[in-house]
Amino acid sequence: MYCRVAQLFSAWRDVRHSPLAAGDRRAHCRGMHTLVNAAVNTAVSPSVRIGIDLGGTKIEGVALSAEGTVLARQRMATPRNYLDTLVALTTLVHALEHDAGALDAVSRATVGLGIPGTIVPETGRVKNANSTWLIGEALQTDLESRLARAVRVENDANCFALSEASDGAGADGRVVFGVILGTGVGGGVVIDKHCLVGRNRIAGEWGHNPLPWPRADEFEGPACYCGQRGCIETWISGPGIAADHARRTGQQRTAADIMQAALNGDEAAAATRELVVDRAARSLATIVNVLDPDVIVLGGGVSNSPRLAEDIGARLGAWVFSDVVTTAVRRHVHGDASGVRGAAWLWPTPLTSESR
Ligand SMILES: [Zn+2]
Repeated sequence: MYCRVAQLFSAWRDVRHSPLAAGDRRAHCRGMHTLVNAAVNTAVSPSVRIGIDLGGTKIEGVALSAEGTVLARQRMATPRNYLDTLVALTTLVHALEHDAGALDAVSRATVGLGIPGTIVPETGRVKNANSTWLIGEALQTDLESRLARAVRVENDANCFALSEASDGAGADGRVVFGVILGTGVGGGVVIDKHCLVGRNRIAGEWGHNPLPWPRADEFEGPACYCGQRGCIETWISGPGIAADHARRTGQQRTAADIMQAALNGDEAAAATRELVVDRAARSLATIVNVLDPDVIVLGGGVSNSPRLAEDIGARLGAWVFSDVVTTAVRRHVHGDASGVRGAAWLWPTPLTSESR
């Protein structure tokens, strides 16, 4: 296989330096580039898979065996500029590879990366990242050239969904909707253990749909940073829950505090939690009406509230367009580790099929 890669690189180099007209040369180069990438993708051994979660404050990395066992872990602070971030990611991969014993050309690891944004297919550059120093950068190709291998990059909510669908709370489902209820509200769709990213790479971004079936006192809803009003995120994200509680009670409390107090007999907090359950059920019902997933997995800080998944699941039937609703709503299994695990799962193992 490596001979095939070497042959292709050699042929590619010959074309680049050939006396062809510039347009013809570019066409040849594009074709060669596709062939080389395909060969490299096939050549990299999938026995060790590295997953990296590039967060706003920390970068976490894990090396998994083919069976999903953790071979090595690393964590470091996220640099606040692009070049240092590239260096940190490269260093992290090499350290994980060393610790996992995957250093030689045959056994070196695959690399998957979860980012707080997405890569624009037309430009190859990052958009929608709250780590703003990544925006507009060619993160994937820059990292690929530094690591001399193909790297798969995916939105962090998609990595969460993929992790839970692969060997977490949604492992028994064909179609899994992974939900992030945290600082923001996001989501990812996984079908047969593969992310559905969509034409505009926004599949699963339900947080910026409007709250469905709004009551009189919910219309037209709080202003959202996206420019609309009444987005689901403005109601059931952590900051959204805290703001709603403050509007109705005058109390300034965090969402975690409110959700916990609700289970300890605090009536005002219980009323807010009841609204969270009702609004989440309404919002997820529209997902069920369109996608009809087998399992909905809740992640993010808000999802850690005891019994929240069960309470939302019990309320779904009131809104879904079906007499019988058997959709499972479950809390995550891997929690904070889902980001790195899902990034590692972006590559197949000898134990899984490759059909991307
Ligand atoms: Zn919005």
